[in-house]
Amino acid sequence: MNPSQSKTALVVGAGIAGASVCYALSKQNIKTILLEQESSAAKKASGNPIGVVYPFLTKHKTPESEFSLLAFQYFLELWESLEFGQRVPHVDGIHFLLDSNSAYDRYSHSLLSHCIPETLACLSKEPNSNLDALLFPEGKAVSPVLLTKELIRIANPMEHYNSKLLSWEMSDANGNLICHTEKEILNVDYLFLTQGYQFFTDPKLEWIPMKQVRGQIVEIPSSMFQNQISILYGDYLTADIGGKRVLGASFDEFHLEEETRPKETFDLWNGLQSKLPNLLKNWEKIDIQNFDTRVSFRTQSQDRHPIVGKLPNLSRLDTSIKYQNLFRKNAKTFEIPYYETVGILNGLGSRGLTHALLAAEILVCDILSQSINISETIRKALKPDRFLLRKWKRDELT
Ligand SMILES: Cc1cc2nc3c(=O)[nH]c(=O)nc-3n(C[C@H](O)[C@H](O)[C@H](O)COP(=O)(O)OP(=O)(O)OC[C@H]3O[C@@H](n4cnc5c(N)ncnc54)[C@H](O)[C@@H]3O)c2cc1C
Repeated sequence: MNPSQSKTALVVGAGIAGASVCYALSKQNIKTILLEQESSAAKKASGNPIGVVYPFLTKHKTPESEFSLLAFQYFLELWESLEFGQRVPHVDGIHFLLDSNSAYDRYSHSLLSHCIPETLACLSKEPNSNLDALLFPEGKAVSPVLLTKELIRIANPMEHYNSKLLSWEMSDANGNLICHTEKEILNVDYLFLTQGYQFFTDPKLEWIPMKQVRGQIVEIPSSMFQNQISILYGDYLTADIGGKRVLGASFDEFHLEEETRPKETFDLWNGLQSKLPNLLKNWEKIDIQNFDTRVSFRTQSQDRHPIVGKLPNLSRLDTSIKYQNLFRKNAKTFEIPYYETVGILNGLGSRGLTHALLAAEILVCDILSQSINISETIRKALKPDRFLLRKWKRDELT
């Protein structure tokens, strides 16, 4: 028996990130407890009725675009092997409008620089607007809620709902993690922090530059539009799932109220009309304020890329030493101190559905010291360490 198989992991937060970590742990046969403060999974950011799955691409390869493409491919592989298509409502196909010269230049080059096969993405025309577009034939509109719940069902962790993590510490005696929840004290071997925007309740994550970003979507009756597949144009209008389409999503990092803003609904509607006027004949006759809306919150890191890796232990970092001096004198022996058995997966921003599964696989392999076929450059670009080093360099760590 692999020694890790007699160990227990606690995963905090039953969104797409926590569900993906549970799935990665289940492949390692690690006993897992999934802790969620709400009464069921996917009530927060992962709770939108429809989301879109497609990769982030840049003109030239970057570690982040390479990760995103690999994550998209990994998502599609699991989609097939776990037969999600039969259980998670979805529609295949996304048209991503290239409605400016710079967008066309960026994305047409990205196909070449990333050697993307036509089966994943190709240049096309969006039929309603006749605008140039990138077509992701296997990009998807999915139900994030059912995707999250399906992953949890397959992973089969012990599910603790209505139970909030209040604090945790590492025992000096045996290195176990003592986790205080509202209801009990859990003693576990591994801890995975996937709390989404509520990261700020954990003082050990305070130094990581993440922020909460408000987003509003509108649910529109499907019959109103005829587009067969989802269309992205900065905002997005999804394909029909269960008689609904989603028009989204606004983005506000400064004002974070939970109430719907009527003006934002109006702006989303006007934006759609000006970008895709042929989608509807009588735009002005529709009272958009009658439609349901939902407000939720992304978690965004300072560089807008996911945060995936072992959690650095700031309390053991000697910040009295200047970063520059330390590297000059002692570069070879310098090591960041970590909570070796604590991992973080957060900062999924606007692409959590595409990125969470591969990010969770990388994280679990990192914590269990297992090899994974992902380059060190990509893994480094995801680690929380990047912010620690940046802050240390600028003397911003206290
Ligand atoms: C408006 C909007 C539209 C979006 N559209 C898309 C899209 O089309 N495609 C896409 O890929 N992504 C989209 N995203 C982003 C995507 O929704 C997120 O990246 C993803 O859902 C984040 O998942 P998560 O698991 O990190 O966070 P969450 O889903 O927020 O999960 C975190 C969970 O942790 C729980 N929790 C927090 N603190 C504690 C605690 N102390 N104890 C116990 N439980 C705790 C919370 O209750 C919550 O259930 C969108 C986001 C928004 C806001």
